[in-house]
Amino acid sequence: MLKQTGVPSADDLKRVSPSEERLALGPVAIIECFQKIPCNPCATSCPQGAIKPFVDINDLPDFDPALCNGCAICVANCPGLAIFVVDERYSEDTALIKLPYEFAPLPEVGAMVGVLNRGGQQIALGKIVRVQNPPRFDRTAVVHVEVPKCWAREVRFLALGANKR
Ligand code: SF4
Ligand code: SF4
Repeated sequence: MLKQTGVPSADDLKRVSPSEERLALGPVAIIECFQKIPCNPCATSCPQGAIKPFVDINDLPDFDPALCNGCAICVANCPGLAIFVVDERYSEDTALIKLPYEFAPLPEVGAMVGVLNRGGQQIALGKIVRVQNPPRFDRTAVVHVEVPKCWAREVRFLALGANKR
């Protein structure tokens, strides 16, 4: 499925998802990287050692969710835009997603935006809570968007000026 559509299958996602127990503890990275390519900034940028050093540059990330604090540094450093941080403990009804964003203009804090699934379809509205764009992120901003909790595992993009729902 991934090769034909670019959208990972449920089995692909199951392989990379942290456990329910870890998700319930708060912010954690979800590394949706499925294709072996010569690339390792996720591992070299993680300050917690949660992504183990690659033995071969073509390795897939070897991630230990127990060591991850959800800082999202890897989100900004992944050239494949394949890493997201999900905080399902953000509030009773909402989750916080930290996602990479490389378009201009950047969204404004407080704005309501359309949030999209992996297939690019709008599934809900989300509220921009924070935009991180320091020089060390090299123009890949990390946008924090609050979404209805039921969509926490589906939201992977956002669209400025998307339709009301
Ligand atoms: S979110 Fe932070 S701690 Fe977790 S894997 Fe990414 S860089 Fe490491
Ligand atoms: S940096 Fe991103 S694309 Fe590269 S191996 Fe890590 S997760 Fe995959």
